[in-house]
Amino acid sequence: MEAIAVKSQAGNRIRLKWELFQSTTNIELIASRFEGLFIDFRSNAKCSSIIFTHQKNTSLDEIIASLYELFEVKLKQIELSLPAANVICGSNKSCSRCEIKEVSKISWRTKLIEFGVLSGYALYIFIKETVLGVALATSPFSLTAIVALVAAIPLLKESLDDIQEGKFTLQTFMGGTLILAVFFGEVTAAFEIIYILRGGMLLEEYIATRSKDEIHKLVELDIQKVYVLQDDVEIEMDIEDIQLGDIVVSRSGEKIPVDGYIQKGSAEINEAVINGRSEPEFKQSGDEVFAGTICEKGRIYTKVTGVGNSTYISRTMKEVEANLALKSNSELEADKLASRLLKLGSVLTVGTFVLTGSFINAFAVMIVMSCPCATVLAASTAISAGISNGAKNGILIKGGDALESVSRAEVFCFDKTGTLTTGKPIVTDILLSEGIKKEELIEYAAIAEYRNSHPIARSIVAYAQEHKIEIDQCTLSEVIPGFGVKAKIDDETILVGNKSLFSKYKISTKEYKSQIAAFLNDGKTVVLVAKEKKLLGVMAFTHEVRPKTREMIQSLRKQGVKHIVLLTGDEEKVASSFASSFSESKEEGNSGFDEVYANQTPHGKAQVIEELKKNYNNVVMVGDGVNDTFAMSKADVAISFAAGGSEAAIAVSDIAITHSHPEDVSYLYTLSKKSLEVVNQNYWLGTGTNLTGVAFASVGLLSPVAAGAIHIGHTVGIMANSSRLAYSS
Ligand code: ADP
Ligand code: MG
Repeated sequence: MEAIAVKSQAGNRIRLKWELFQSTTNIELIASRFEGLFIDFRSNAKCSSIIFTHQKNTSLDEIIASLYELFEVKLKQIELSLPAANVICGSNKSCSRCEIKEVSKISWRTKLIEFGVLSGYALYIFIKETVLGVALATSPFSLTAIVALVAAIPLLKESLDDIQEGKFTLQTFMGGTLILAVFFGEVTAAFEIIYILRGGMLLEEYIATRSKDEIHKLVELDIQKVYVLQDDVEIEMDIEDIQLGDIVVSRSGEKIPVDGYIQKGSAEINEAVINGRSEPEFKQSGDEVFAGTICEKGRIYTKVTGVGNSTYISRTMKEVEANLALKSNSELEADKLASRLLKLGSVLTVGTFVLTGSFINAFAVMIVMSCPCATVLAASTAISAGISNGAKNGILIKGGDALESVSRAEVFCFDKTGTLTTGKPIVTDILLSEGIKKEELIEYAAIAEYRNSHPIARSIVAYAQEHKIEIDQCTLSEVIPGFGVKAKIDDETILVGNKSLFSKYKISTKEYKSQIAAFLNDGKTVVLVAKEKKLLGVMAFTHEVRPKTREMIQSLRKQGVKHIVLLTGDEEKVASSFASSFSESKEEGNSGFDEVYANQTPHGKAQVIEELKKNYNNVVMVGDGVNDTFAMSKADVAISFAAGGSEAAIAVSDIAITHSHPEDVSYLYTLSKKSLEVVNQNYWLGTGTNLTGVAFASVGLLSPVAAGAIHIGHTVGIMANSSRLAYSS
């Protein structure tokens, strides 16, 4: 048994770790026995730890001695405590990253060592046979045969299982070939088969693990120590000991370790990791914060609502991982092709024997065809490498299917506000109804919009803050996607939104008719504010187009996208003035939209997508806010872009672009095309060499050993070709 470990000590506040603290009965026993001694007491059975503040009249040593006594543990039963387990990411002991790392670490090391030994033996064969010209023993009991058979144990076990289940699989074919090769004295060929197989599997795993690692790096919570407020004292704790309801302190420059609500303080928080927005957001008491985001300036006290596996970012990761495990279309195709090649292999082997009567020729054919694994690797390695490349560039691709669908996309639909324009529209004009002060108008609008993540809402709130207009009330407001918001303030109904919202509620906007028309002519978005059906005033906004949007559209078109669509809830005039700013310059290729749909409700956007799907292959929808999720769910590929903190948008998306750079959209398209190209090249490489090999082998121009060498060649070729993708940028 290990000794009790003192994990942290701050004055009288102690954290101890011991295996006996895993049991709740033991914990209850401690709690009752030490009742008068502890000022507060908490336990975390999962981490085998207890945390308490003890009275000043006892010492830690006495408490530890009493604990041993309580459980009647004799000191001689205790071993020297081992160093604490290697905490890999610190987000939580049982987080998915640790699981992956730990599992793959073990299998990796063993597999690498095994492969190293096999490589050593391959070198030995090469030196002996080729350099020294000494013939190798070829009997089924020779060293080479034994090495090959031992290395093939997992394969042979698998093929035996398949045979018992009455299945003829790739494994049975390879296992059978290997045994036959050993039996007929082709031990070098047998060794080659197993050597390639092991090497191929290792490489495949390496590429797949890399892509997972890249994805994790993107959102990694490399936090180990956290400051928790207890009795007005900040205590340093391990992240694994944080519990729901604790108050965590974050200062300037620190990564926020938990999900929660700010209880005290304020800060500018960079949330790029979850919503792609590069501008930091001002957050204060009552606002929600997420693990992994960065407190850039200020200090906040956060009440924990999620930690470790239950944080938003961790849940998103789980979803991405689950999707990664699903096979993409071309991977499934590859599996099918492999099984067809397997059948073809059997036919060709028998055929060669019947036609040529040469056992050696038939055997060489069998060896060439025995490794359709190259076909399987062709797709899976390329797709994994593509996903890994995306992650490295801040593009989270939730599985190979998404990557492949993008490459086949003929239509790209873009939402306007917040997607192609920056998340912060600028207030340009304010018109006030008689007797209404500007402060009053802004205050009502800001209270109503306070919790809303729509770019216009955020802009109104920011405007109020910049003009020192206090938003001292909190109210529940109802978001009407595509229209605006409705809120109750002091029992009065406040409406903030566009003209359509006002006509829905039959509120006249006649009094501002000409001014509204003028704003719209200038391409400005108009937002109206009313209290109890009485118009208080009008606000006009301009939008800043994100840099490089034009280049992105040009690039998509150049690469073969047939139809580019603007889908917006904004007014016709605003939409067309926005769109025409893109089609003005034609000198560097068309950067304009083929179609513009304005005044679209979330439902309308979804209908447009459905219509487009009838006429085109794969339709992509790129959107940000809540009002795009319906359309995104209808599209063949949903891309969330700078998703404005909208969990819904990220959740329905197949791909999340985490930086708010429009050029990432065209980069993604290029990447998907390249990945599919590599899959195709790999197929040709794999099948081409296989078929050429068969042709030569069937007429006796390829020895079984040379047939094995072909495998090494094309497997390595496929791997190298795929890994080009992972490293290019
Ligand atoms: P887009 O499709 O371009 O992203 P939205 O569908 O989000 O635009 O919004 C459409 C229009 O609805 C906006 O131009 C604005 O006039 C109005 N609107 C939407 N949400 C709000 C809001 N929270 N406050 C005020 N107006 C809003
Ligand atoms: Mg939008």
